Amino acid sequence: MANPFELRGKRVLVVGLARTGVATAQFCAGRGAKVTATDARSENEIGEATKSLRAAGVQLELGGHKEKTFLDQDLVIPSPGVPADAPLLQAARAKGVTIWSEIELADRFLKGRMIGITGSNGKTTTTSLIAHILRDAGVPTILAGNIGTPLISQGEQTSDKTISVTELSSFQLELIDTFRADISVFLNLTPDHLDRHHTLEAYGAAKARIFENQTESDSAVLNADDSATRPYAPAKPQVFWFSRKQRVAQGTFVRENEIVFRQDGKDEFVLKLQDIPLAGAHNVENVLAAVAAARLAGAQAAEIASGVRSFAGVEHRLEFVAEIGGVRYYNDSKATNVDATVKALDVFSGRILIVLGGKDKGSDYTVLQKPLREKAILALLIGAASEKIEKQIAGSVAIERAGTIQRAVEIASHVARPGDVVLLAPACASFDQFDNYEHRGRVFKDLVHQLERQAASTSSGRG
Ligand code: ADP
Repeated sequence: MANPFELRGKRVLVVGLARTGVATAQFCAGRGAKVTATDARSENEIGEATKSLRAAGVQLELGGHKEKTFLDQDLVIPSPGVPADAPLLQAARAKGVTIWSEIELADRFLKGRMIGITGSNGKTTTTSLIAHILRDAGVPTILAGNIGTPLISQGEQTSDKTISVTELSSFQLELIDTFRADISVFLNLTPDHLDRHHTLEAYGAAKARIFENQTESDSAVLNADDSATRPYAPAKPQVFWFSRKQRVAQGTFVRENEIVFRQDGKDEFVLKLQDIPLAGAHNVENVLAAVAAARLAGAQAAEIASGVRSFAGVEHRLEFVAEIGGVRYYNDSKATNVDATVKALDVFSGRILIVLGGKDKGSDYTVLQKPLREKAILALLIGAASEKIEKQIAGSVAIERAGTIQRAVEIASHVARPGDVVLLAPACASFDQFDNYEHRGRVFKDLVHQLERQAASTSSGRG
């Protein structure tokens, strides 16, 4: 957290007025910048936020963007949803306008230390777990970033003792300049967002920028079991590996069902695998990464163990919803890419009815064939990607084009037998039928709870 930046008198354009854009515009206006905010949506579509922005003195350009406005700025801050190669940004860049993501600006106003977490999957779980461990250990902690609370809104709550535990997406990292984490975590790299980054290399390179400004006194935590991230191991910061499968020279690993932290040749027992309250091998990876980061941040092994044991998990990530007539329902709405869905299928031992589909992100669903063949008895397809998914998984499992999540749950509830699992792990984004993955997860849970009530009233009626 360095390089203070004087906003007073600067011309700043904020592009995109979702949560991050609104917070950024307000922050900049509050510090004396001349702020314009633009969004392709109209005032009606954006809603209430426009009022508070106007009140803060922000100029609004809504219902479209003007090139002149982009060129006439000192600083442009696109929201994470805006592609970094959007033509108007390129035009501004060509004219010498500085273009930063919100985390770059936020970093310049934060005190204390930063733990940054990136990766294709597991960011929110790992970020939440690290914050939970540190809070539990009495460290003043901020939990922010891509997880929902914009980092920019947190500056005033930090002191020199604060640790900002920040989830970082590739879109945020793509537009940094001097942003630096004291401890960086790169969990894994699997194809995602290729509609935006075009190639896995470009996507990986954007994520690897998390290491770019780290110095010799900083630490980097990487996954030794993931061949896609290993090549990104940085030269300057001290590298700590985590692994489920092998012992590492420095970092965290599993030895005889125990998690061990190794630093400077010394091994320290942290906790037993059986004490991890989350299901799945992927969550062991998240815990290994979190243990390393929390230990490097100064938490003691016993404090870390107690934090892991009391971690409740995060909504919409393999979240248990209900058991109805011996059938268990799980909400993994956050499985918005193929790898997360593979991991979810891996958790259960068999007879899964899976709800798949939504908005395609250019994914290769053929990867699902093997786990579907081994674990699933029925794939219920919903949303815009149904046809593509059907073609790519054909022959591996019985398929039903349910169309909507309502119909999918209805069909699943008729087909499932005691012992089966009904799993929403759609491998797609949600925007074709829902506001976001949280909305999709809530609709699924509501449907399941309706079934639960019906089942209860039927059985009490009989009794
Ligand atoms: P992110 O913030 O990176 O999207 P989440 O913690 O929200 O990560 O999890 C997203 C999805 O990926 C969920 O379906 C979750 O079950 C799955 N997941 C969590 N951790 C991992 C991991 N380490 N590897 C693969 N999948 C994971």
